[in-house]
Amino acid sequence: MVTQISSLNGQALRKAAELIRSGEVVAFPTETVYGLGANAFSDDAVKKIFALKGRPADNPLIVHVALGYDISLLIDCEPNYAPKLRAAFLPGPLTMVYPSTGKVSRYVSCGLNTLAIRVPASPAAQAFLKAVDLPVAAPSANLSKHVSPVTARHVYDDFDGKIELILDGGPCSGGIESTVLDCTGEIPQILREGLVTREMIASVAGDCGVYHAKAGEKPKSPGMAYKHYSPRCKTAYCRSAEEAMALYRAESEAGGTPCVLCERAAAENLKHCKTLVLGASGEEMARNLYALLRQGEKSATLLIGIEPKERGGVMAGVLNRFSRAFGGNHET
Ligand code: AMP
Ligand code: MG
Repeated sequence: MVTQISSLNGQALRKAAELIRSGEVVAFPTETVYGLGANAFSDDAVKKIFALKGRPADNPLIVHVALGYDISLLIDCEPNYAPKLRAAFLPGPLTMVYPSTGKVSRYVSCGLNTLAIRVPASPAAQAFLKAVDLPVAAPSANLSKHVSPVTARHVYDDFDGKIELILDGGPCSGGIESTVLDCTGEIPQILREGLVTREMIASVAGDCGVYHAKAGEKPKSPGMAYKHYSPRCKTAYCRSAEEAMALYRAESEAGGTPCVLCERAAAENLKHCKTLVLGASGEEMARNLYALLRQGEKSATLLIGIEPKERGGVMAGVLNRFSRAFGGNHET
């Protein structure tokens, strides 16, 4: 199969809609990362996503809908805070988990009685969803465990020859996946941190929890249990430039090509090392993280991550992805 990367013109959107309606899979841009979409009502189409990605069968998908889509068809009931959160943050990088009516394919939620729904804000995603005119189940468009894609080229690198069409909307402006918020309880609870922060949600809903699975418990957001966001080279997780320098020297002396990925302030102490610089603010780091992880894995034998010192706002989401990519345990 020839994989076509196409800019978002009328012809490409018509082709994307045709493919989705005939049960095929299409990659499309959103403001967070690129998604691998299929008709959420079709068992066979949804199963293709799992097969293409090599995604574990118990890791549910998010359903993406166009602005104005009537979600009452898909959700059973909702708490009082849910409409307030939708009004405040949608369209945007917030996925809300509701009790499900069970109308979409049972493979979407992997047997859970809940459904995750997102209304992406990016005009490209909206153009795609409007053209398709169906709810689209879509995880990130990367092979399972690999780094999420933030450009059409990243999607191509993972799925060349395996899917027909990648819609190219340029680099994603957000850069990390949506916040996943459980809206089935008395207070909303974050299952995965992202660009919509706990503080932002609490300011609208009055309160907001952050869910952490207890030891031995099956996590509420199954995806958080898996190894994720991993570059395809050796990685090391450090808390200081000194620690990173020692590893860098050892790898160089062993004939390898190390590289350090870190925030701007840390890079200034590493003048003689090859570095990939995340930036300074949380938003900048979110936007750059995945592209740099993919860049790093191409040339480095060892990618050394220095935990950013920046805290607050979207850094909870950035540190979550950073520590899972490098196999570390960040300090909050
Ligand atoms: P991805 O689309 O690859 O970013 O992954 C989707 C994330 O949403 C994963 O972490 C899933 O575990 C989570 N998710 C999707 N549906 C549900 C649901 N019904 N309940 C809880 N988490 C969900
Ligand atoms: Mg993913």
